[in-house]
Amino acid sequence: MNGMVIIGAGEAGTRAAFALRETGFCGPVTLTGAEPHLPYERPPLSKPLDGAVQMKTICSAAALKAAGIDYLPGVPVTQIDTARRHLLLGDGRTILYDSLLLATGARPRRLACHGAERALDLRTFADAAAIFSRANAGGSVAIIGGGLIGMELAAVLRVRGMSVSIIEAAAKPLGRAVPARFAASLHARHLEEGVRFHLGTGVGEIASDAVVLADGTRVPADIVVAAIGVVPDTALAGAAGLAVSNGILTDAFLRTSDPHILAAGDCAAIAQPDGGHMRFESWRNARSQAETAARNMTGASETFAAIPWFWSDQYDLGLQVAGLPLPEYRIVLRRLGEGALEFYLDGGRLVAAAGLGIGTSLAREIKLAEMLIAAGISPDPANLADPAVNLKALLKSARAA
Ligand code: FAD
Ligand code: NAP
Repeated sequence: MNGMVIIGAGEAGTRAAFALRETGFCGPVTLTGAEPHLPYERPPLSKPLDGAVQMKTICSAAALKAAGIDYLPGVPVTQIDTARRHLLLGDGRTILYDSLLLATGARPRRLACHGAERALDLRTFADAAAIFSRANAGGSVAIIGGGLIGMELAAVLRVRGMSVSIIEAAAKPLGRAVPARFAASLHARHLEEGVRFHLGTGVGEIASDAVVLADGTRVPADIVVAAIGVVPDTALAGAAGLAVSNGILTDAFLRTSDPHILAAGDCAAIAQPDGGHMRFESWRNARSQAETAARNMTGASETFAAIPWFWSDQYDLGLQVAGLPLPEYRIVLRRLGEGALEFYLDGGRLVAAAGLGIGTSLAREIKLAEMLIAAGISPDPANLADPAVNLKALLKSARAA
């Protein structure tokens, strides 16, 4: 038996390695990672406590050893031979596999303008260390991209006493995954904190002391960070002849176009019941896909159907989004103290919920909303809007019905 091999020791790959053991699989498990460290979490990289970046490992070396996981850090896999079912490592070694999981994640999208090489990325621990070692109080930073990373980093650096400018191509920040009401609240909070926004504008050039916008405006900056989204890491899969598009294409069981290879996490684009493929870029998604993939590698036939969920922390505000809050859905607003929840109804059925409040004050409500979504119910909108109506009671009555 050659066993199970995983490429990529990020959130998905590492979770899958342990999940394989949780299924009772006792053959060889090999986890390969291009980065030199123990597997670590990425979310803390843009939310460092007291502005000092720390590595939060996913597991210890002792835990990997105790689980019998053969961890090979610091060596990228350079080739997959699907016919012979073996991998070539960067140091010349080869590994045979019975079943392979691709968990190669995503890479930062690169700017194409003159001076683009001056912009720092924020994806790895090394990237975060490079940014925070240069982020001094009184200095200035220009962040290109007003998405989740750009806004989280802006909050941390502003609190650290830097002058912060955000340059965003769209007319508003956080336009991709964050509901409009909460994107506007977070934008307003950044303005209150003194962050300067340049919206609806592209970058002409990155000079040594400034970002020059497309209209010639100079935005002075000691440091420039590009946070303009990510592209799935599909190079290895594509070279091996697997079907790739915006991600490594899988069926609903997370199987790629090769029956012995599965994919999970940021790199994977999963077949959807109503056609097409969808890729999710979030921490919990990486973990839950990894768990489904591990079970399917050891003989199960489970479709991946977890409800998407992500969070973002900016200043003392906490955002959580469960499900996909598409603009065409009916929105029901519930105000709760200093925060608010939005519920999204598709033809009456609750399909998503989002909340913005102080810290984790709305975490319980979002958890309950997730359970209501999973129950597939169509609640009375008046009950959803009324803060006096307990969501737990709604769930109980839905289950009883
Ligand atoms: P990754 O974590 O990218 O791991 C993939 C690994 O594969 C990498 O270590 C890479 O080096 C390795 N690899 C690639 N190719 C090879 C190869 N050929 N050989 C060997 N190894 C290879 N999500 C949230 O839900 N909430 C948050 O608050 C949040 N904050 C974030 C903050 C930051 C700064 C970043 C960057 C991301 C954040 N995310 C957040 C997103 C979340 O971290 C990702 O969705 C998650 O890490 C994806 O996990 P993954 O394992 O699919 O990919
Ligand atoms: P993102 O959320 O996709 O945001 C990128 C932003 O940059 C978008 O608003 C985009 O606008 C803008 N942009 C693109 N090209 C630009 C250009 N040339 N000039 C100026 N603006 C430009 O990506 P991200 O913030 O870089 O985050 C990267 C990854 O980390 C994602 O996978 C994200 O989900 C993950 N992450 C998640 C969290 C979280 O869940 N809390 C936190 C941090 C990071 P358009 O939309 O108009 O292209």
